[in-house]
Amino acid sequence: MEGYYKKRYSRQMLFQGIGDGGQERLASSRAVIIGCGALGTVIANGLARAGIGQLVLIDRDVVEWSNLPRQMLFEERDIGLPKAVAAEMHLRAVNSGIEITGLARDFNAKTAESLVAGADIVLDGTDNFAARFLINDICLKLGIPWIYGAVLGATGCSLTIQPDYPPCLRCLIPEPPEAGTFLSCHQAGVINPAPGLIGAVEVAEALKVLSGVQTDQRLLEVDLWQRNYRLVNVAGAARFDCPACNGQYDYLHTETGNHSPLYAGEASVQLYNTAKAERVDLDELAGRLAGQGKVCNNGYVLSLRQENRSVYFFTDGRVIVRGTDDPAQARLLLKELRR
Ligand SMILES: [Zn+2]
Repeated sequence: MEGYYKKRYSRQMLFQGIGDGGQERLASSRAVIIGCGALGTVIANGLARAGIGQLVLIDRDVVEWSNLPRQMLFEERDIGLPKAVAAEMHLRAVNSGIEITGLARDFNAKTAESLVAGADIVLDGTDNFAARFLINDICLKLGIPWIYGAVLGATGCSLTIQPDYPPCLRCLIPEPPEAGTFLSCHQAGVINPAPGLIGAVEVAEALKVLSGVQTDQRLLEVDLWQRNYRLVNVAGAARFDCPACNGQYDYLHTETGNHSPLYAGEASVQLYNTAKAERVDLDELAGRLAGQGKVCNNGYVLSLRQENRSVYFFTDGRVIVRGTDDPAQARLLLKELRR
């Protein structure tokens, strides 16, 4: 082990739970973080500093002003950049000794396997059940441990899920709750200590799994406002008829979720032009959109601002429309813009 390396990670290697051997295992590990928002930025920051050898950050959205109170890696100058790109940029300055890949991509049934394949662990930085059920399916299919984490308001929860050691997420929650039956952070709000704490818990669990330490099957539930901290043993919640535990991965076969609003409770829609496999030429697009609003092209994403809405065009063919939660209306708008 090189001298600089020993110096850099000395405090972690002194920590009995990790040691020299554990640090080497961290350095040869690949972690995939799905979602680079409030949870994802805390997780990515923790894992990059801890020296995880390969980090992959996946996020489909761009940085906005309303993200700054809790999405710890971002600064005001990042507004309008894809979150995955901005996060990669900041983390490269934090740790040049590891491989960091930020992907401004949508995690869906079509892309899940290629994005996650080869990971030693997957971390949940998402904000919706659809994505989590997809993570559960792909991780069970590929035999990858994953850390579930969720926050709302001042509350949060987390559970480490090991393939072959049920319960999995679907054992605990057989079907995702229907949209509209639960609140999202866009409706109930969120304060930064909640993702700060749950993100740190996810990092701790990842360090344990990656350095070869046994984890347990206790679900953590916290309410930072009421100061309630609870661990619930869910080992007995494994279901023998759980489809995912029996190799039936329903969410890998659902249609990509591009026709639904982007976030529950927020007027955003993501459209995916799957027919268009080639990279979108943003410069050419900027020329075509000139005169239809305020156009800004930062090389990663092209934004068009109009009076009541904003449209973001990504190079992978995705389009996010803000200002409506009606996919039909968003598609109509795109048709008009492309005319
Ligand atoms: Zn299960």
